Amino acid sequence: MTSIADLLAHGPTLSFEFSAPRDEEGAGRLDRTLARLAELRPSFMSVTYGAGGSSRGPTYEVVEHIHRDLDVTTMPHLTCVAHTRAEIEAIVERYRALGTQNILALHGDVPLDGPDQPAGDFTRAIDLVAFIRERASFAIGVAAHPEGHPRAESRAADLDHHAEKLRNADFGMTQFLFSAHHYERFVAEMAARGVTTPIVPGVMPPTNVEGIARMSAMNGTEFPADLRTRLESCGDDAAARREVATEVATRLGEELLAAGAPGLHLYTLNFSEPARTIARNLEAALGRGVEARG
Ligand code: FAD
Repeated sequence: MTSIADLLAHGPTLSFEFSAPRDEEGAGRLDRTLARLAELRPSFMSVTYGAGGSSRGPTYEVVEHIHRDLDVTTMPHLTCVAHTRAEIEAIVERYRALGTQNILALHGDVPLDGPDQPAGDFTRAIDLVAFIRERASFAIGVAAHPEGHPRAESRAADLDHHAEKLRNADFGMTQFLFSAHHYERFVAEMAARGVTTPIVPGVMPPTNVEGIARMSAMNGTEFPADLRTRLESCGDDAAARREVATEVATRLGEELLAAGAPGLHLYTLNFSEPARTIARNLEAALGRGVEARG
């Protein structure tokens, strides 16, 4: 298993993000998706932890399956919200014992399951980074929000916060975006603050219009009106929507790589398509074959 810091140094990387499943049906679909996408030998696969305030779910078990059975490098997400130091310590130790070499350290969305969630011992992701560093030699990634975090007091405060966090991390992973311009501007703003930590952009194929609109509003991501119109004009034709989403994500991936992105992180929503087709389309831009080896 490999450190993502090393992979990025030899990039560009191609990675896939999955959500921990909520039920048995979801677990079955995720297993099939993981198997299909592992065939492409991605640089690494990541698994969310309680994203969107959902149940924290079986993140460890999915990471273990990817690590042991699929032999793909993993990056578990770990959020510190509503966790005590002792709880985080136990989770970190479990991943260390498994042989994981990477982790994405996040503040996290507040879990919705459970009436009285304690605030927890951590208030910022950067504190989680320092806590993990003392306990494991992981390559530690942090979240980046190129269009600004919705809770930020101001753009300047947000950029300073990101700069401090990225300086203490090995790499950043961005919220999904639809314009390479937002990524380029953010990287330039970090460089102006002396930050050279590699920042990997997140690409979400926009297959589900309502879902994307909701998530974009929540994250402060610009969902371009012309893209929305184009997707809506597909009506109930899921295949047509998937074609538009594939084309848009492929073009964005090419633009981001041309702008110097050290890799691409594809949000799969636990579906193997269109991620598989996008990965194939980007083979030349990534400078790597994504077909099964061996
Ligand atoms: P932090 O860096 O701690 O801060 C969040 C924001 O608060 C900052 O950007 C800033 O605007 C503001 N802020 C905090 N302190 C200061 C300060 N001192 N000065 C100025 N501003 C400050 N959530 C999940 O629950 N599970 C997941 O698996 C998950 N995966 C994610 C993966 C990626 C790639 C990304 C981009 C996000 C993910 N999220 C996930 C969402 C994330 O947890 C939320 O966006 C959360 O609200 C912020 O987390 P953070 O780690 O950026 O927090």
